[in-house]
Amino acid sequence: MVPDGEADPELVTIGERYWALAGFAPELGTPVWCEKVKDIDTSGWGRQIYAVAAAGVRAVVPGRLCPQCAGPLSLTSRTAFQQLCDGQDPVCVECTESLMAAVRIVVDPARKAKRECRISRLVAIVVA
Ligand SMILES: [Zn+2]
Repeated sequence: MVPDGEADPELVTIGERYWALAGFAPELGTPVWCEKVKDIDTSGWGRQIYAVAAAGVRAVVPGRLCPQCAGPLSLTSRTAFQQLCDGQDPVCVECTESLMAAVRIVVDPARKAKRECRISRLVAIVVA
């Protein structure tokens, strides 16, 4: 897992929790995650947790390359990791335009300003 440059620490934390792998189910060989998706609070960053996670970190599979761009294989979602375990060849985050668009919405500065505005207003109400 590689922090994505100047990502907001909150996004990095969400990404790290999303990608925290506990191990593999002994018989099925399916990945077991430390936390369920619904237990990870995205703190208002967005409802698509894999996009929020991708805005913070890249989960890269060592020794695997993206079949499309031949770059390091970063996983788009837990589902993509499952596909990889099933022998399929998912493409990387950068090659998944729909995900990159969703990431841009998560990190959009205007949207973040709006979010902070909403939070400060909430605080003001509490203080009053
Ligand atoms: Zn790629």
